[in-house]
Amino acid sequence: MGYIIALANQKGGVGKTTTGVNLGAALATDGKQVLLVDTDAQGNATSGVGVQKATIDQEIYDVLVNETPIQDAILHTEHPGLDIVPATIQLSGAEIELTPMMARETRLKAALDEVRDQYDYILIDCPPSLGLLTINAFTAADSILIPVQSEYYALEGLTQLLNTVKLVQKHFNRDLKIEGVLLTLYDARTNLGKQVNEEVKKYFQNKVYATIIPRNVQLAEAPSHGMPIIDYAPKSKGAEVYSELAKEVLAAHGK
Ligand code: ADP
Ligand code: MG
Repeated sequence: MGYIIALANQKGGVGKTTTGVNLGAALATDGKQVLLVDTDAQGNATSGVGVQKATIDQEIYDVLVNETPIQDAILHTEHPGLDIVPATIQLSGAEIELTPMMARETRLKAALDEVRDQYDYILIDCPPSLGLLTINAFTAADSILIPVQSEYYALEGLTQLLNTVKLVQKHFNRDLKIEGVLLTLYDARTNLGKQVNEEVKKYFQNKVYATIIPRNVQLAEAPSHGMPIIDYAPKSKGAEVYSELAKEVLAAHGK
């Protein structure tokens, strides 16, 4: 049974998508079967793994709104072991369309249940909001990985995020856990990075990953080539740290 991790933080630009693409590729490189599910209308995870938007037939929108079987929306990527359910701008209307629908919070869970046994890990790249799409992700997930950008106000908004987690635990998914908190976009040259690291550790304690993701130019370049960092620049610091993160995730699940 695949273990489902939602990558969430309602702040944009904190490294959710970068982590989804690159942790996914690193886990696949370690021999795991990985499904990345793009639930952001921006479709950055989709293009980040090299899927051309124009070639997409079925996408996550069809799965959630039209109840298209998820199997029909899964695409293989160029990276062996890494599959994706793509998203396009069509998804931007989904929150409103889903609102009056039956089982609006549990649609992603129902869909993923159909393919869970084909994968070791399923990573859900959440949009930058705590709306219905993120609630679908939290309802479907076993745990949540929270990327936190090393900047001023890093912890701002996390109370709201944790309140949403509590609500989903209460109503839809009692067993939902915090997988871990990942410091991203870290700049070792500033004291700010160190301060934020300490603050995040005080708050989340042993939930914070030992791996810290630094600012790395190749990590920012790789998406425009449609490649995970491990394929675009295998010797880069970015590739190294996401491989380390994959090891931590694998160790946490004993496999
Ligand atoms: P989110 O999905 O949370 O909105 P992204 O993963 O899309 O965040 O990252 C926001 C921007 O920062 C993107 O342009 C991405 O390429 C860049 N980025 C993310 N992580 C890093 C990093 N460690 N080093 C350099 N650039 C990064
Ligand atoms: Mg994103």
